[in-house]
Amino acid sequence: MLRNTISLFLFLFFFSFLSAQNSVIGFSTDNASEQLKLESAFEKNLNATNLDNWMQRMAAEPHWVGTKYGEDNAKWIQKQFKSWGYDAKIETYDILFPYPIERVLELLGPTPYKAKLTAVPVDGDPFTAQGDALLPSYNAFSIDGDVTAELVFVNYGIPKDYEELEKLGISVKGKIVIAKYQGSWRGIKPKLAAENGAIGCIIYSDPQDDGYGQGDVYPKGAYKNKTGVQRGSVMDMPTYPGDVLTPGYAATKDAKRLDRKDAPTITKIPVLPISYEDAQPLLAALEGPVAPTSWRGGLPITYHIGPGPAKVHLKLTFDWKLVPAHNVIATMKGTDFPDQWVMRGNHHDAWVHGANDPVSGMVALMEEARVVGELAKNGQKPKRTVVYCAWDAEEPGLIGSTEWVEDHKKELQQKVVAYINTDGNGRGFLGAGGSHSLQAMVKEVAGTVKDPQTGVSIKERKIAKQMVSGGEDTFSLYALGSGSDYTPFIQHAGIASLNLGFGGENGGGEYHTIYDTYPHYKRFKDPNFAYGVALANTAGRITLRLANADVLPFDFKEWYTTVSGYWEEIKTDADQMRKAVEKHNKLVKSNAFVLASDPQKEFNEPAAKKDVPYLNFAPVQNELASLNTTIKMLSLTNGIQISKAKQEELNQKLIGAERMLTAEKGLPRRPWFKHQIYAPGFYTGYGVKTLPGVREAIEQKDWKEAQEQITVLSNTLQSFNNFLAELNAIIR
Ligand SMILES: [Zn+2]
Repeated sequence: MLRNTISLFLFLFFFSFLSAQNSVIGFSTDNASEQLKLESAFEKNLNATNLDNWMQRMAAEPHWVGTKYGEDNAKWIQKQFKSWGYDAKIETYDILFPYPIERVLELLGPTPYKAKLTAVPVDGDPFTAQGDALLPSYNAFSIDGDVTAELVFVNYGIPKDYEELEKLGISVKGKIVIAKYQGSWRGIKPKLAAENGAIGCIIYSDPQDDGYGQGDVYPKGAYKNKTGVQRGSVMDMPTYPGDVLTPGYAATKDAKRLDRKDAPTITKIPVLPISYEDAQPLLAALEGPVAPTSWRGGLPITYHIGPGPAKVHLKLTFDWKLVPAHNVIATMKGTDFPDQWVMRGNHHDAWVHGANDPVSGMVALMEEARVVGELAKNGQKPKRTVVYCAWDAEEPGLIGSTEWVEDHKKELQQKVVAYINTDGNGRGFLGAGGSHSLQAMVKEVAGTVKDPQTGVSIKERKIAKQMVSGGEDTFSLYALGSGSDYTPFIQHAGIASLNLGFGGENGGGEYHTIYDTYPHYKRFKDPNFAYGVALANTAGRITLRLANADVLPFDFKEWYTTVSGYWEEIKTDADQMRKAVEKHNKLVKSNAFVLASDPQKEFNEPAAKKDVPYLNFAPVQNELASLNTTIKMLSLTNGIQISKAKQEELNQKLIGAERMLTAEKGLPRRPWFKHQIYAPGFYTGYGVKTLPGVREAIEQKDWKEAQEQITVLSNTLQSFNNFLAELNAIIR
C-alpha cells in the first residue's frame, strides 16, 4: 500500500514536472525545453532603455504620412533592422491623402461665434508649442463642402440615437448635426447622418467622456483640456480600408485609379472635429426638447436637441494629393522552413507626435526584433522566416498595410503562418484579440509572462480583472473587428491574426491630439517602459513559438466553443426580436398605447410592426454538430509523433486553415471583407460583428438575406469540416 502510494506520488511528481517544465503546444518534449531556454534568453536581453530612447527619437516631430519626418523615421527604422541582421527594405505606395486648406465653422446666430479650431501649447510640454509644424485638426476623407443650416444634437450619432429622434419626431434632413465622439467608431457618425439626410456633421469631445469629467486635464492631469481635438479618419472603412482610389489592388505608381468623385469610401457630407470649448456655444444656442438624460454630457449647460435656432456655417476645402507611404519590411530567413513566414507589425505614422499611438507599440516591436536578431547572431536563428513590418499611413485608413497585403496577397496566403499586430501600448492588463484557433497558444504564453507590477502572470492578472467586473474566469481572445493593421491580413487575405497590447490603467484624453507627446507618455502611460518590455516579451514569445514549433500551434477545440457560442447568441437574438414584436403588436391591437391626452404631441403613438418570421437555422446547426465530432477526433498533439515529412505536409495545410473560413464573394455590399466569422460592423465601424453575414441581416431585419447568409455560412463551415478531416487523415 505504502509502496503504491509512493510510486503514485512519484508518477504524479514526474507528470507535473513534465507538464510544468516541458510541455509547450506544438513542440516535442525535447524541443519544448530548448524553446523555453531560448525564450528566457530572449526575455533576459530585453532592455527598457532602448524603448525610451527610440520613443524620443521617433516622437520628436509630427510624422503623418507624406511628411519629411515620417520618411526619416522609416529610413531610420530600416537602418536599425539592418544593423540587427535583417534584410530590410522600404516598399512605397502612392496613396491619396487630403490635407486641410480651409476650415471654417461659425455660429451665425442667435449669438455669433467663430470656432477657434486650435489647441493651445501647455507648460512643461515643448512639443505642443511647435506651431505650424502641427497638423491642423480635421477628419481625413471628409468631402469638401460649404454648407449653412440649423443645428441638431444627435448624441453619439449611432443607430439607436436616430431611433430616439424619430420617436421625438425630429428630422435631421437638410440640417447640420453635432455628435459626441465615442459610442462608435467616428466614421459611422457622418455616414449615418448623411443616410438620414443631414448636409454636414460636427464631432466634438464631450468633457464627460475624456475631459474633466474623468480626471484632471492636461497639463495637470492626463485628460483632454478644453482646446484638445481628436483627429481621425472618417473613410468608410467597413466598406473597404486602404487607398480610396485603388479598392482591392495595390496603389503602385502606375495603378489605374478611380476618379475621386467615384470613390465610395469618401464621406458624402463635410465633417469636422472640434474641442469642447468650441462646441459649448453651439450647443448652448440650441432649443427644442431637452435631451434625454443619457444624452447629456459634462458641459455646464442644459443640453437641448434643436433643430435650431442655432444656425451654423461649415466650410472645408482639402488639398487632395498623392503622397508616398513608406512601409519598412525586415526579413530574417528561417533555417529550416524559409517559405513559412511569421509576421509582426505595428504602424510608424502618427497624426501628430504619436508618442502613445503608435510609437509606444513600435518601440516594443523594435526591441523584440533586436533581441531576435541578437539570438540569431549567436546561432539561434528561427526555423521559420520572421518578418517585422513598420507600416505607414495607418491613421488615415490602414492604408500602408492594406496596399502591401493587396500587392502580395497570393504569396502571403501561401506562406504566412500568422500575423501578430501591435499598436499604441499602455499600462495594466493584457488585451489580446484574434483568431480563436490561436487562443490556446496565446493563453499558454500569457501564463509564462510576468506582470511588471504584481509579479503574477499576465494571464492571471487579466482573469482577475475580468472577475472583478463580473466577467468570465477564463482566458479568451476577443474577436477582431477593425481599427489597426491586422484588418487586411485577417479580413481580406484570411490569414490567422492576433492583436496585442496593455492598457486599463493609463486613461487620458490625448488620443490623436497634439498632446500625445513624450512628456505626456512618461507622466501618465508607462513611465519606465515596463509594459513596453512586457509587450515585447509576450509578442516575441508568440513569434518564436510560431517560428520554431514542430507542429504549428493551432487548436480547434477552443475555436469551436467560441464560434458555437456566437451562433447561440444569434439564435437567441432572433428569437427575442420575434417575441418582442409579437408582444408589441398585441399591445397595439388592444389600444394600450393610445394616450388619453397629450397636449404637446411630442410622442407619436406606436403603430404595428412587421412580424419577425421563423428562420431555418438547421443548415448551420447541422454543420456545427459535425464539426464538433470532427474536432473531438482531431488531435494535433499527436502530430508531434508523425514523420518529419508528414509534419511538413500538416504544417503546410495548417497555414491555409484560416482561409477556409473566408468566402471569395465576401460579405453582402462589401466584397473586400471575406472572413465569415469576424468583420467590423457595417454600422459600428471598429466594433466587431461575429458571423457577420447572418447577424447583420437579422439586425437589419432583412429576412431574405438572413436565410441566404445562413446557407453561405453553412457552406463555409462544411468546407472547413472537410479540411479538418483531411488534417486528421494526415495525422492518423
Ligand atoms: Zn495606432
